[in-house]
Amino acid sequence: MSSIELGGTIGIIGGGQLGKMLAQSALRMGYRVAVLDPSEDAPARSTCHTFIHAEFSDFESLKELCRLSDIVTYEFENIDAHILRTLVDDYHIPQGAETVLTLQNRDYEKTAIEEAGAAIVPYAKVSTRDALASFADTNGYPVIVKTATGGYDGKGQMVIESQAHMESIEVPFDQAEWVAEKYLQLEREVSLTVARSTTGQVEYFPLQENLHKDQVLYRTIAPAGVDAQYTAKAQEAARKIMDKLHFTGVFTIEFFIGQDGALYVNEIAPRPHNSAHHTIESCNISQFDAHILAILGHPMPAVHQHQHAVMMNLLGADLDRLEQTLFTNPEWHVHVYGKTARKPARKMGHVTVLTDDVLETLDRLEENFIKEE
Ligand code: ADP
Ligand code: MG
Repeated sequence: MSSIELGGTIGIIGGGQLGKMLAQSALRMGYRVAVLDPSEDAPARSTCHTFIHAEFSDFESLKELCRLSDIVTYEFENIDAHILRTLVDDYHIPQGAETVLTLQNRDYEKTAIEEAGAAIVPYAKVSTRDALASFADTNGYPVIVKTATGGYDGKGQMVIESQAHMESIEVPFDQAEWVAEKYLQLEREVSLTVARSTTGQVEYFPLQENLHKDQVLYRTIAPAGVDAQYTAKAQEAARKIMDKLHFTGVFTIEFFIGQDGALYVNEIAPRPHNSAHHTIESCNISQFDAHILAILGHPMPAVHQHQHAVMMNLLGADLDRLEQTLFTNPEWHVHVYGKTARKPARKMGHVTVLTDDVLETLDRLEENFIKEE
């Protein structure tokens, strides 16, 4: 039994591409959709019945979204703690507040992952230059510093290469909380997307292999081209984390594989994730469908991937180059999110290709995607 009736309204906090694709799943299943987003031309505006144009800090507007929805979810994890706790007390938000509040702060997130018993890279909360220098002395260079809250797509991050670099760099300690991490030489990056329903059913999507450029996801290959032991290890880490933190809906764990072959948890996103966009075409159920079914308490099918997939993000700079030829490759599944302002590093869309020959597909895609220098 679902927690809401067919034709009931699903409210989504956040109307970016994740909100849009969640809304598309919900609409197809026969639900109404309401979205709140601060941007007037949010991608999900075109895929909802009711659009509330408001800041995420606007308590009254968030309450309005909750009042007109039978169930509320989010595509955005940086909601104010006090607001979210109050909404969770008064409205139907099955994901709750506690997990997202833990995960929105890198210091709390890492502490929770460590307590769950999953491996992470050495880190420390640092609030002074001396503390940062002493972390680097203990763990060696390079070191990466990240803002504890509010960062995404590599925003709010600095890599410090050496002691000389440390002496010249300015970290604005007075403006934010910071976390320092050992900067690993990575063998690979992988991610695991998991769906957990209100009834406790858990389904794992295939392990995904991710390549980042300038700290932004560039491309995903699924399943990851790594030894099967990593899938087992990633699922084991997910189980430990689920024992410690409560999850409803889909979430994704990002992992590093170090050059030592060890698997470390990088971070966890308590919502649909860019690295699982391929599931729309490559699996019997997409991450977006799975999220809607899971929060409503409907059973999910066991996840099964039909074919290998390569997903490339279309940043503004890519779209500038590829716009004329985007639809000349009939094997490309093209997704353009409908953002009006195009910026070089902004995620404007993505392309997924299903393939029996990943290497050949990568070669062909890269011919199109790699920028001429
Ligand atoms: P965001 O919240 O912006 O996604 P992440 O912590 O996931 O931040 O960092 C973005 C990317 O930067 C990672 O996917 C990885 O490619 C690189 N990166 C971040 N931290 C480290 C690290 N400690 N060692 C090596 N690479 C890192
Ligand atoms: Mg990340």
